[in-house]
Amino acid sequence: RKLPLDTSEEPGVRQVKGACFSLVKPQPLVNPRFVAVSHEALALLGLNGEEVVDDPLGPEYLSGSKVMPGSEPAAHCYCGHQFGQFAGQLGDGAACYLGEVKVPPGHDPEQLRDNPSGRWEIQVKGAGLTPYSRQADGRKVLRSSIREFLCSEVMFFLGIPTTRAGSIVTSDSKVIRDVYYSGHPRHERCSVVLRIAPTFLRFGSFEIFKQADEFTGRRGPSCGRDEIRGQMMDYVIEMFYPEIQQNYPDRVERNVAFFREVMLRTARLVAQWQCVGFCHGVLNTDNMSILGLTLDYGPYGFMDRFDPDFICNASDNSGRYSYQAQPAICRWNLVKLAEALAPELPPDRAEAAIDEYMALYNGFYLENMRKKLGLLKKAEPEDEILITELLQTMHNTGADFTNTFRSLSQISCPTEGEGEAGEDLIKKATDLLLEQCASLEELKAANKLTMDPRELAMLLSMAQSNPALFQMISDRATIARQLERLSKLKDLTETSQEELKTKHAEEWSHWITRYRKRLAQELEGQSDVQGVQEERVRVMDSTNPRVILRNYIAQNAIEAAENGDFSEVQRVLKVLEKPFSLQPGLELPAWAGKGESAEQGERD
Ligand code: AMP
Ligand code: MG
Ligand code: MG
Repeated sequence: RKLPLDTSEEPGVRQVKGACFSLVKPQPLVNPRFVAVSHEALALLGLNGEEVVDDPLGPEYLSGSKVMPGSEPAAHCYCGHQFGQFAGQLGDGAACYLGEVKVPPGHDPEQLRDNPSGRWEIQVKGAGLTPYSRQADGRKVLRSSIREFLCSEVMFFLGIPTTRAGSIVTSDSKVIRDVYYSGHPRHERCSVVLRIAPTFLRFGSFEIFKQADEFTGRRGPSCGRDEIRGQMMDYVIEMFYPEIQQNYPDRVERNVAFFREVMLRTARLVAQWQCVGFCHGVLNTDNMSILGLTLDYGPYGFMDRFDPDFICNASDNSGRYSYQAQPAICRWNLVKLAEALAPELPPDRAEAAIDEYMALYNGFYLENMRKKLGLLKKAEPEDEILITELLQTMHNTGADFTNTFRSLSQISCPTEGEGEAGEDLIKKATDLLLEQCASLEELKAANKLTMDPRELAMLLSMAQSNPALFQMISDRATIARQLERLSKLKDLTETSQEELKTKHAEEWSHWITRYRKRLAQELEGQSDVQGVQEERVRVMDSTNPRVILRNYIAQNAIEAAENGDFSEVQRVLKVLEKPFSLQPGLELPAWAGKGESAEQGERD
């Protein structure tokens, strides 16, 4: 729709009123070429990766530089709550919908289970200006595109619901970006990722119907359009939740069942993130898929050393989207979705559903964690404590999240009357885990203050002199975290490397002893002890990944690609397509340990 700029809004922000999408044209790239393709993702569309790569028009079509026959490109208008506040209209500012591709004949039947709509939406991300680009240019650069491309696919191979990425194309078109960690503006190559999902509709898609926000005064472009809200709900439920559509002839009951299912999928998704140490980074409502998929890979991060306060988004000063905040933040987002669905979704029914969220989340989390620990028989009430203590020990000792879990399958169940041999096993297991722990210097670095010590001191003196004023500071949680670090740092300065190692060994052997006791319970009443043990190792090694997309690995591939060598992107994808197994001759680069891991939080 051609609409005049509404000057009553912020400069550069165009309000597209009364519409769910706008027809757009992707901007062609100069000399588009492939950086990498995901053969598995392209196969969803019935495309053969080899053929696509060999076709001179491949990068043209898959970057939107040439529009495919039958495609009617569009940008979707959505709203969203960003960092806790209603932001009004956002929309596809850089992504462009190309159309839908029918699931090809001869597909894997699993596909239709995950995608009952029978077709895939395809999008080009970074394809240029849309009416929703606001002050930005609608482009994405090589580094952000590589990050999105790799992680989309890596998540899929980890078994975590996600949007997919079929290809990444780079070009000779350039945009200026102020790379925040270098601080210098530089010309970067425009790059485009082909994204694939049953739908890219999100919580924010429903927030366009929101009335003016009482706090910000912002409103959705189609506010009050009850009719369109109903249509959009019908569309989503009929297309993507056909069982609910069939099983609930009553409209209100159908809507409640739909909301419950979105909630269930969201709870399951976050539980999966938590269990691989993944932090999304920008859990705004516009980045929450209506299908419970991981959506929008910006400043995401997989944790190295376990830290519940891990923050991967450099602009998230308060830690709103930290690792441990994710489950509760998703609940908050579900509340916003429920508000957007009212009155189609009666608020009292939504509230009743949301009351179940935390229990559902905990259930998924524990189920997943039990598998990670190889506790496969009866669930015991003390399992939760065992898991909490494991994480606490990992945090105290600065242990690597992924590697620690992966090594647990090497800890064996106690055997009857094992006596001293048992002590020996505990010692060996302790040594194994100690390898994953931080040294004194590393632990100090991990606890480095992120706040200026003078600012911290000032705030603390305010806390004493004027508690009422202190209470008004919204960021008290950050201050509390800084204080915790400060006290840890103090302890560490009074400790030697030797003392630290002894302390870590004590903590680990204590936990391992408990863990082995719990493993013994698994064997109770079992005749085939060997079989139980083998099964346990098998399940653990297919639940705890051997490799994940660590930041430095993505960074390494990005640097190579920026220097014209795209092979590392494809190689990293190949390794991470099988994250649970060792592929001889195919290894990820080892951590070279040069300084600190590259900063995350890269945008655009
Ligand atoms: P995000 O934080 O990535 O979810 O993006 C928030 C909003 O900014 C969305 O409306 C995006 O479409 C928009 N956006 C992100 N990157 C760009 C870009 N490079 N150009 C234009 N709009 C963008
Ligand atoms: Mg987004
Ligand atoms: Mg984004």
